[in-house]
Amino acid sequence: MTTRFENGIVVTLGSNNRVIWNGSVVVEGEKIVAVGDAAELKIRFPKAEVVDCAGKIVLPGFICTHHHFYSTMARGMFIPGEPASNFVEILERLWWKVDRALLDEDITLSAQIPLIECIRNGTTTVIDHHASPGMRDGSLDLIEKAVRQAGIRASLCYEVSDRNVMGGGVEENERFIKKIGKGDGQIAAMMGLHASFTVSDETLEKCVGIAKDAGVGCHVHVAEDLADREDSLKKYGMPVVHRLDKLGASGAKSLFIHCVHIDESEMDLIAATNTSVVHNPESNMNNAVGVTKLFELLKRNILVGLGSDGMSSDMLSQMRCGYLLHRLANSDPRVAFMEMPKLLLENNAEICERQFGIRLGELAEGRPADLAIMDYQPPTALSEANFLGHLIFGLVDATVDTTVCRGKILMQGKKILSMDEERIAARSRELAPRMWERLQAL
Ligand SMILES: [Zn+2]
Repeated sequence: MTTRFENGIVVTLGSNNRVIWNGSVVVEGEKIVAVGDAAELKIRFPKAEVVDCAGKIVLPGFICTHHHFYSTMARGMFIPGEPASNFVEILERLWWKVDRALLDEDITLSAQIPLIECIRNGTTTVIDHHASPGMRDGSLDLIEKAVRQAGIRASLCYEVSDRNVMGGGVEENERFIKKIGKGDGQIAAMMGLHASFTVSDETLEKCVGIAKDAGVGCHVHVAEDLADREDSLKKYGMPVVHRLDKLGASGAKSLFIHCVHIDESEMDLIAATNTSVVHNPESNMNNAVGVTKLFELLKRNILVGLGSDGMSSDMLSQMRCGYLLHRLANSDPRVAFMEMPKLLLENNAEICERQFGIRLGELAEGRPADLAIMDYQPPTALSEANFLGHLIFGLVDATVDTTVCRGKILMQGKKILSMDEERIAARSRELAPRMWERLQAL
């Protein structure tokens, strides 16, 4: 089947970004077969189905390179006792109870709800980091099923840690990595690890061995809080990145998440090993853990992507949050205008190329047909030269009307087509009180 998404403002992004007014993107199967002037493509593809995009802007689908679907049911939950006063307390009182309280259907719903939110926000690819020690084995299959039903792409892993049981999650990761193999372009697998301070050398070595044998990378939180750095210095006599590298967890396919509390020697090591970093500004602000030295990382040509860390599935809002954070943190209104859009639009695509083996983030012939089509009537001229101004100050507040992934329309006219949003939310409201009850007893 061939479809012309026509008469919109097409922004191709990619290395040769073009803004085409009255443009069309023609999709056949899972791929884009043409991008250009709407009138010309109407002549070339006269029999195609037509989706009118007048009054809209057509962009490549957005990518989130670090998410936690499992955090969904914590929304609105009452936590008894004094509020957590630091990062470790946030983990102990909240997240390490949430993940233990999740049972099978909770895991499915916890994935389905953010997947709906991804589609709502034009996010068509996610790299997720999952934990559910209360129902660990088979949990990645439940998430995979939800992702396939939703119709977006996801790289999945289970976060291994020794905090409940030694090596908890190693087998689940290994099993899933073997099942997925090289992947089909929709689902990929990684080796997940919680963080340096919750994994022993023995567990880490085991995970790295499995990852290397399968040719996948490690997805691990790195020095998100000072506590992780201090733990590594005290127990192993070296900072986190040096420890992870010594045991083989760095490399081009690995993702080091956060990297807030790392020193210059660690940055040099990340650069030398071609490891990617994922920055999560909104989460870092929420947990009050500090500010990643983004410009120091970029100066070393480190590939830095943008994630939401479970805060949201709206990647434009994450991008703008980082833009504002780094201006304030550096007391400099000249910075972050180029860098934050680059993290989202270019670097996330490059990170996904390393995971999925396909090039996303560009509307061009032969590229995957992943589209975010947003309501947007530019109030001023819009061209390649000033697109970022429209992105940061206009599109960030625009609504996604239509989302396409792998050539399939997942939402049209703001109606989710691939999932029953109302039923899923209602069932989640039904199960959440039971999950909260189990959590209070932990
Ligand atoms: Zn995280």
